[in-house]
Amino acid sequence: MKWLKHRSLIIISVVVLFLAGILLHSARIALYYEDWATYPTNKHIFDQGLLVKAGEITDSKGTFLAYTENETRKYNSNVDIRKATVHTVGDLKGFVSTGMQSAYLSTLAGYDLVNGVFNISGKGNNIALTLDSSLCVSATKALGSRSGTVGIYNYKTGEIVCIANTPTFDPIEVTAPRGDGVYVNRFLSGVYAPGSIFKLVTTLSALENTKAEELCFSCNYGVDIMGEKLTCMGMHGDIKIEKALVHSCNAFFAQTALTLGRSTLTKTAEKVGFNKTLKMDGIECAQSKYNVSEANDIDFGWSGIGQQNDLVNPYQYLSFVGAIANGGEGISPFVINKITSPKGVTLKSSSKSKTTLMSEENAQKLKTMMRSNVKENYGDYRFPGLEVCGKTGTAEIGKNATPHSLFVGFIDSEDKPYAFIVVVENSGAGSGTALSVASKVLAAL
Ligand SMILES: [Zn+2]
Repeated sequence: MKWLKHRSLIIISVVVLFLAGILLHSARIALYYEDWATYPTNKHIFDQGLLVKAGEITDSKGTFLAYTENETRKYNSNVDIRKATVHTVGDLKGFVSTGMQSAYLSTLAGYDLVNGVFNISGKGNNIALTLDSSLCVSATKALGSRSGTVGIYNYKTGEIVCIANTPTFDPIEVTAPRGDGVYVNRFLSGVYAPGSIFKLVTTLSALENTKAEELCFSCNYGVDIMGEKLTCMGMHGDIKIEKALVHSCNAFFAQTALTLGRSTLTKTAEKVGFNKTLKMDGIECAQSKYNVSEANDIDFGWSGIGQQNDLVNPYQYLSFVGAIANGGEGISPFVINKITSPKGVTLKSSSKSKTTLMSEENAQKLKTMMRSNVKENYGDYRFPGLEVCGKTGTAEIGKNATPHSLFVGFIDSEDKPYAFIVVVENSGAGSGTALSVASKVLAAL
């Protein structure tokens, strides 16, 4: 009897272990199968580590950017389009980690838990992007041989119509890993010292926390702080906020920062997206950084004019400028318009995500100042037929390096509601290179 009881205990234990094993295995399939299925050794979608089978990727006009034909992955036949869109589309080896062919690989492969990779039709899902590939070509050509990025989106709908990055490469020529930043989507993964484009954040903070119109500071080719000179390009004398933004007076904005205080300016910066990880269609962007917790007064003064440790990510800053254009309501920029099954059934469509970044009144004030900048400073002749509002930046990046050139802004128009950011690395003043790149791209738009 005792022997029988012992034997049944063993059998019960074996059964329990067996059931637990099945449960664990099912859980692992549910959790990790997507990763296993899209691993480069899976011969259903890869051949010798190269992506061969996946759904179509098209631009906003239905132009094919990537597709599969006869078990071969193909791209648009025009080399300029291939090079201008590769950072969003992605390459065959997955070097561009933020590209659709990496970040949305399982979607493109048609992965689902029941059927595995590829649904019954044997085809993957299709992704329709919001990009206008011919505009991406114009922007890439405007950047030319210089490194940089251009991003443009519709601030009323959130649709990104242009992402351009240089240096770039032809995805047909699959190469080895490279160290020159060619695989980096600078728009999403880059961070730059902002220079004077940061004065928009300082201005917003002043509008929200002081009687900004009454602020008046003195500029004598800069201002002395802690016995050190914080320099300005001009001798602006007693100057108020509106003129200060038009003339980009460093002395005014450094003293405004000191009046606001570290925690107030940090709060404004964080409200508009600094020190946060933003996502474009679920793909993480690099963080914009604003940290003055340990800065002394002169360093804090520099931070208020976009120097010191300030860093901006182009996607984040474009979202902020778009909110100014859209009356304070920020619509998150996105690049995926629709994901459809091979039979054309919509699996996911774009959804607008809104955040109020500032009051309508303050957005209007910023807009008026940015409009004066272009009218009085850069010149409307640069943007024929368009009412452009903007701010340039020249980012000092070390004593012996040529500064980065930046320009952000938007077209104030009901039928062309586009906001833009242009960054051209090591190319001097923002009012020079970045402005002329923007002028070419907006003309193409
Ligand atoms: Zn000044």
